[in-house]
Amino acid sequence: MILALESSCDETAVALFDPARGLAGEWVHSQIALHGRYGGVVPDLATREHLRNFAPLFELARAEVGFSGVSQVAVTHGPGLAGCLAVGVAAAKALALAWRVPLVGVNHLRGHVFSPFIGVHAEAPAEFSTRLDGLLPHLGLVVSGGNTLLFTLDRERRLNVISSTKDDAAGEALDKGAKLLALGYPGGPLIEQRALSGRADAFDFPRGIGPRSDLDFSFSGLKTSLRYQLEKMSPAAITERLPDLCASYQQAVIDALVRKTTLALRRDGFRSLGLSGGVANNRVLRAALGGLAQEQGIPLLAAQPKHTGDNAGMIAFAAWVDPSVREADLAGLEIAPSLTL
Ligand code: AMP
Ligand code: MG
Repeated sequence: MILALESSCDETAVALFDPARGLAGEWVHSQIALHGRYGGVVPDLATREHLRNFAPLFELARAEVGFSGVSQVAVTHGPGLAGCLAVGVAAAKALALAWRVPLVGVNHLRGHVFSPFIGVHAEAPAEFSTRLDGLLPHLGLVVSGGNTLLFTLDRERRLNVISSTKDDAAGEALDKGAKLLALGYPGGPLIEQRALSGRADAFDFPRGIGPRSDLDFSFSGLKTSLRYQLEKMSPAAITERLPDLCASYQQAVIDALVRKTTLALRRDGFRSLGLSGGVANNRVLRAALGGLAQEQGIPLLAAQPKHTGDNAGMIAFAAWVDPSVREADLAGLEIAPSLTL
């Protein structure tokens, strides 16, 4: 079994993964309520919380599954907040040293990249390799608070990033929009909820599409355009039109994601489409990409809700499935706050 630790941002998480059976247990402590008061993650507070919360999570894991089968420790070593990463990496080194098992550092983004395949593995662990071969080449969209990118996995499971964002990430655009609308943090789910009773075509926000063949994303203009729109409205009008504002703003983000994904899908004979990261929770986005995949006659592999936000299950899974993961020497594994894919 692989024991994985994740503490790159505001979730402390531990998971146990058995390649022959699947995830044996996952434990998460979220700090959303703590940081919500400040309108975003406060790095120093997050570090202290990780320090506090790993021990109780390990106690739960010990009580519910036990550590006797652990043959490898995996830990997120980047990207993320330096202090937060350091807590997880230090804990992982201590465990690997005490148990004399190998340690691997996992790129958090690669965790998101492979997370849509956790469900494929869970259905039939013994057949996973064959099934994965049938789903490659794969086009994947990672949409989170810090990243928005399209990548491909070729038949050899090699990863290639084909587009990213020029400015804000999709989740960041939703969070900043929610802040302008005084909705709170994190903004994505709050906007989605308000949008349910609104019209997506009520306001015409820019799509940030850019040149037609360009696959990169850009969301900063969208946020600015919302600000200008709100400056033109009275507080009472904003309150009254809140559902329309949310639905239109959300739709602008989703349209940009769907347009670029559609363009990328035309490029190659992809056999599956993936969706992961925190924004993948959004039901309107899931439905839109589901429709797109169906049109192409390929499956949409969307990460399960518990694997969209930060979690250790995807870190354990990536440690096992990602061919680029290498065993680290205990002294040598460093934190890598600005690691890229
Ligand atoms: P992550 O960066 O992967 O931890 O994901 C957090 C981001 O996902 C934040 O920007 C959230 O606003 C966004 N998010 C979470 N749930 C939803 C949702 N239902 N719709 C849109 N965005 C969401
Ligand atoms: Mg998070």
